[in-house]
Amino acid sequence: MNKEFVKRAAMLMLMLLPTLAFSQADPDDPQPQDFTQWNAMATNIALVCWAVGLLVALGYYVKLSTTKGSKEKYDFINKFEINSLWVAVIILIIGGCFFANSAITSLTPVMIGVRLFVTAAMGLIVAVIIQNLLKFYYPFYIEKRLKVLRYQPRISPKTGKAMKLLSEEEEDAYLDEGMQAEENVFSVDYDVWKDEETGYIQIEKYAGHLHALQCPECNYQTFKVVKEEIVKQPSETETGEIIKHYQCGYCGYKAKKSVILKQQTKVEQSTATA
Ligand SMILES: [Zn+2]
Repeated sequence: MNKEFVKRAAMLMLMLLPTLAFSQADPDDPQPQDFTQWNAMATNIALVCWAVGLLVALGYYVKLSTTKGSKEKYDFINKFEINSLWVAVIILIIGGCFFANSAITSLTPVMIGVRLFVTAAMGLIVAVIIQNLLKFYYPFYIEKRLKVLRYQPRISPKTGKAMKLLSEEEEDAYLDEGMQAEENVFSVDYDVWKDEETGYIQIEKYAGHLHALQCPECNYQTFKVVKEEIVKQPSETETGEIIKHYQCGYCGYKAKKSVILKQQTKVEQSTATA
């Protein structure tokens, strides 16, 4: 349904924009005024905005492509991609608003109000549509790339050969108790890569609460851990239990998941890194 709405709104925009652009001349205007100065200024502001917007987006991609290492790239995309694109889009839209008002031939006080209103409304509609795309559709694309980056074989600095990603069971031997507790409690995932020739170990940390899952209700990539409560602390002899509360940022769907905590001796360590 949302998809349909976005499509329709986009179509409407495409139809309305040219109409607006060409409906400026009013032949009944009694006193012709000179708008060349304003038009030139509006054009220049539009061009500057577009240049800055493109530079923001370009700057992001240049920074990304010069970032070395799969894990570093992963973190960079996770942290900055959507926000950078969003900032670029806002600047581009502001440019568009000026451009739409850069060919004025006549203007009455009423028309000024109408123009301001229509320009702001159109700008907002475009912004909302793009924001929706970035928030709900774009994450699928990001997710695919993040997965590739996360599971791309790491190269051992010792031998230059590909290392092996250890399984959940195998990796426990290399994670200290604090890390293991953290894996349980804070939706943190550690990946352990091992160079089987030399025994060299590389540990990477992935923060689960920064990273959304696919919502079982609406299927958007907007399902996140919002709260975690420890029901029972694990002791040296007994396992513990934690309840993870998930909520969808799009449809609001909520779910609880109970996770058994392994027997642990030093759970307190885990609280240090949230
Ligand atoms: Zn949902």
